[in-house]
Amino acid sequence: MRVEFVGSGDAFGSGGRYHTCQHLSGDDLDVVVDLGATAFHALKRTVADLNRVTTVLVTHFHGDHFGGLPYFDLDAQFVSHRRTPLTLVGPPGIERRWRDLLDASYPGFASSSRAFPLIFREISPGETIEIDAAVVTAREMQHDPKAGICLGYRIAAANRTYVYSGDTTWTDELIPLAEGADLFVAECYVRSRKMAVHMDYATLLGKLPEIAAKRVILTHMGPDMLDHLEDIGHETAHDGLTIVL
Ligand SMILES: [Zn+2]
Repeated sequence: MRVEFVGSGDAFGSGGRYHTCQHLSGDDLDVVVDLGATAFHALKRTVADLNRVTTVLVTHFHGDHFGGLPYFDLDAQFVSHRRTPLTLVGPPGIERRWRDLLDASYPGFASSSRAFPLIFREISPGETIEIDAAVVTAREMQHDPKAGICLGYRIAAANRTYVYSGDTTWTDELIPLAEGADLFVAECYVRSRKMAVHMDYATLLGKLPEIAAKRVILTHMGPDMLDHLEDIGHETAHDGLTIVL
């Protein structure tokens, strides 16, 4: 499994980074996990053929995690001339949230007649579904109730396991989500300040032994983290970082 950090930024463009987006590829696997508003530009630069992407998984309905969907859709219709199905997977309500987003961005386009099937698939906390050659399990994170249910994903394919926290403060749900994973991608917005909506490195550090992931990479870092990367004892993501599991 190949994991590319297409975008590794926070909501505020800290460090000039693109919004959150990770591209997972491998045998019978070509999926995008989160697609923030600015991430589509980076995706366009890093993925040669967007029509090969079968699925976009969304962790939650914040613009820096799913705001790039209108651009992906318009590109598929008018530039990439997509003909193969595209599946959008996300928390309950994904179709309505996508429609609201598209209506606000490009009025009328949500109802366009497309030359490709657009499939919506809800995934609820605790549920497991199959996508391409991958088995995807979702667990509920603690982030922003106004955005609805926020999810973290555990994705297993080709005997490798990738886990992504999405946005969350610490929750014990992260332990079964990421336990023993080959790669645990954890959001880590600040170093030690406790936040109700985001992870701090000090808390995560104390919990990582329980998780026992084989590799941990921190992403979605704010200015406090980016200004002190030399003090961080774990790998940190940057736009374009590519990992082969
Ligand atoms: Zn968020």
